Amino acid sequence: MNTDISTDWVRALDAIKEIVGPAGWFTDPAELEPYLTEWRKILHGNCKMVVRPASTEETAIVVEICHQARIPITPQGGNTGMVGGGVPEDGIVLCTNRMTAVRELDADNSTITVEAGCILSDVQNAASDSGLLFPLSLAAEGSCCIGGNIATNAGGNNTIRYGNIREIVLGLEVVLPDGRVWNGLRQLRKCNTGYDLKQLFIGSEGTLGIITAAVLALTPAPKGRLTAMATADNWDDLLKLFGIINGRLTGSLIAFEVFTRLGMEITTRHIADAINPFKQMHAFYALIETVYYGNDSAVREALETGMGEALEQEIINDAVIAESARHADNLWRIREGLPEAQSVESGVIKHDISIPISKIPNFAKAGSKLAMEIIPGCRVLPFGHMGDGNIHFNLLAPENLDQEKFFTCYMGKVNRALHDLAVSMGGSFSAEHGIGQIKRGEMIRYRSDVEMDLMARIKSAFDPHNGMNPGKIFDPVQAAKSTAR
Ligand SMILES: Cc1cc2nc3c(=O)[nH]c(=O)nc-3n(C[C@H](O)[C@H](O)[C@H](O)COP(=O)(O)OP(=O)(O)OC[C@H]3O[C@@H](n4cnc5c(N)ncnc54)[C@H](O)[C@@H]3O)c2cc1C
Repeated sequence: MNTDISTDWVRALDAIKEIVGPAGWFTDPAELEPYLTEWRKILHGNCKMVVRPASTEETAIVVEICHQARIPITPQGGNTGMVGGGVPEDGIVLCTNRMTAVRELDADNSTITVEAGCILSDVQNAASDSGLLFPLSLAAEGSCCIGGNIATNAGGNNTIRYGNIREIVLGLEVVLPDGRVWNGLRQLRKCNTGYDLKQLFIGSEGTLGIITAAVLALTPAPKGRLTAMATADNWDDLLKLFGIINGRLTGSLIAFEVFTRLGMEITTRHIADAINPFKQMHAFYALIETVYYGNDSAVREALETGMGEALEQEIINDAVIAESARHADNLWRIREGLPEAQSVESGVIKHDISIPISKIPNFAKAGSKLAMEIIPGCRVLPFGHMGDGNIHFNLLAPENLDQEKFFTCYMGKVNRALHDLAVSMGGSFSAEHGIGQIKRGEMIRYRSDVEMDLMARIKSAFDPHNGMNPGKIFDPVQAAKSTAR
């Protein structure tokens, strides 16, 4: 352990070790390392100890000790976040990965009560074992945790049909920054009893407390799915295709994902089992998924008719409908492999843009022009959840450009230009990834003084000493100053 710490901290950390036992803490630098760096290995932090409590009770005692000794806490789940929200600056990392129990599955009430460290795919599997569906789905589902999903208000592939996780959370249990436990584990779909406190914790990125358990709403499991991929020449045609498919399949359509030729090229190049289903390359691709609850024939007919109409009107130029689960999985493999493929291909400057769906073509065209003016030769790689207006407008480094120069010379300027563009079109600079460390400056720039003032007051009401994930989302002192004009 580091020796450059006060005796108060040493005493507090020793007390924490007693509470969580040998399996619940470590200080060895090699063991700490994976908890100090996010998965892209861009941000790196520091902490004195990683603590892994096994229960809410242990978590509450650990937090209270830290509160008394003023030791900052960084909550962490699967550490798959995109904005450095789980990267610590000091103090302890409190990781939930030993709290993995499914406390209850009430099939008649269609709810599941799980602890925060449950891996997302384990929650999906528990629901499916009972003939139900937990609909949140995203490419990191094998490693991210429910607590992290809730703390980031995760979106993912099926938002178009089921909403973000905010729409799915019915109740929460939270350890507050002073160590008290708020038990809000209600299994109710209606409960108008004053302020809905759980909403404050959803999307709070660990700054207001540690989520230890949640009640989540399940839905009936569909009988099957139909997956298709279509190709188009431009953004306007993708938007028209979305209009046709959404119109014909409302209620059944659960995903409308898009990517460009560059996405297909790098995924099939770098991801072993991703296979292009078309004979030639096309400028744009849409991946469409629908579900059915009874006989598949009505949904199949609507999908085929929609595709036929789009082909006839020359909105799309080719299409496949998966004929087996394996074929469907391959189509998804291309889309899901994209985040990994882009990182293998080159350095990436990422943007998590939200924009009214109708404005996606204009944003994409203006954004590509801006990006190429600012970074000559950069490779524009937009992809993502077009059906809910969320485009990951990513930029790959120009070939032959030094990777470090790509980030140091261009990232700030191009971020500013694209975020300004999105906001000027009624969009947002963060759709589903949150703010964490890397978008704090954007908060001050784009959020109004009134919003910053309210957020700073909420933070100070929950966490007056700023001990819970300090430095994430915004600096409360800076936020207060920015509004005191
Ligand atoms: C390949 C890939 C694809 C992805 N696709 C999507 C996508 O489609 N949609 C999407 O929304 N995100 C996506 N993400 C981002 C990421 O998976 C989500 O943000 C996820 O919800 C984070 O969960 P986690 O457990 O890894 O949280 P972490 O990364 O550990 O933490 C994220 C934030 O939540 C806080 N936190 C974690 N656990 C708790 C807790 N129990 N209580 C309070 N605060 C807590 C942390 O302090 C941090 O601020 C993707 C990531 C990867 C790597």
